[in-house]
Amino acid sequence: IKKIGVLTSGGDAPGMNACIRAVVRTALHKGLQVTGIYQGYQGLIDANFKEMDTRSVSNIIQRGGTILKTARCLEFKTTEGRKIAYDNLKAAEIDALVVIGGDGTFTGANFFSKEFEIPIVGIPGTIDNDLYGSDYTIGYDTANNTVIEAIDKIRDTAASHERLFFVEVMGRDSGCIALNAGIAGGAEAILLPEKETAIDDLISHLEDGAIKKKSSSIVIVAEGDQNGGAYYVAKKVKEKFDHYDTKVSILGHLQRGGSPTSFDRVLASRLGFAAVNEILAGNTRITVGLRGNEIKTTPIEEAISNKEIKLSPDLLEMAEIL
Ligand code: ADP
Repeated sequence: IKKIGVLTSGGDAPGMNACIRAVVRTALHKGLQVTGIYQGYQGLIDANFKEMDTRSVSNIIQRGGTILKTARCLEFKTTEGRKIAYDNLKAAEIDALVVIGGDGTFTGANFFSKEFEIPIVGIPGTIDNDLYGSDYTIGYDTANNTVIEAIDKIRDTAASHERLFFVEVMGRDSGCIALNAGIAGGAEAILLPEKETAIDDLISHLEDGAIKKKSSSIVIVAEGDQNGGAYYVAKKVKEKFDHYDTKVSILGHLQRGGSPTSFDRVLASRLGFAAVNEILAGNTRITVGLRGNEIKTTPIEEAISNKEIKLSPDLLEMAEIL
């Protein structure tokens, strides 16, 4: 292997830049050439390539987003699209790929490396923390901190006006951000995709709080919540419980941005470093991830087929009590 390509794909996440930097610098250090592929799999199909040197990744470790851009690419879902991608890689003499992204990115990588015998290592990058094979994904810690900051601010206004706030947070089908932010933000209740919460139970819980003279309450609603999201839950609660002025706040895309936390920068650097080493060791069709405090590999097929619920029972129990 003489030259590797690196790309970011799917939803962006803070820390992707730190990861690109680690891939580029590790590869150069080991005597490899590195090509940056722009806009994820779309860039493979369009041959949107740029040779990277050590300066190409200067001054990016602290920046959110991804300098390589990202995209959702329908053409890559077809064999014909992937054939074009492969021909472009061959023409550019790229021998192996590092792909940073989520579940969809890994699914595409799995098809591609089976059809065309190209070594690929996947790195979990998504704020949702919904991938098997790594306790944490790149961007999750930063998103948690962003959400906490927002909740703290909402609490100020909630307490001043005696309001009940329903705050909707991201995570797709994963309740990781909701649970974590709910605990760290001292929420009154947390509605998760993984767990059913009856609206009536939520109301009686809020009534208890009102009897105890709570001046305000914050309910965290995961975007994948089983009831149907913050607006719906707020409406249903209000129909039977109008002790407080009720407000809804959907945090939205601000959760994806911002400078990565120290944790995400170090995680991203470790995973980028590991991915290059795995390629050099002859490994392919794997993902790298953090398990405990060790970097471990997982076959990409397992990473995409195994669903892992990362909400630990003790956290769930604690959230109920606190
Ligand atoms: P994420 O990687 O964050 O889950 P997406 O689900 O959008 O984001 O996937 C990123 C890209 O991966 C898609 O735009 C597409 O190009 C590719 N991809 C996703 N699913 C498949 C699939 N079943 N086959 C081939 N490529 C796929």
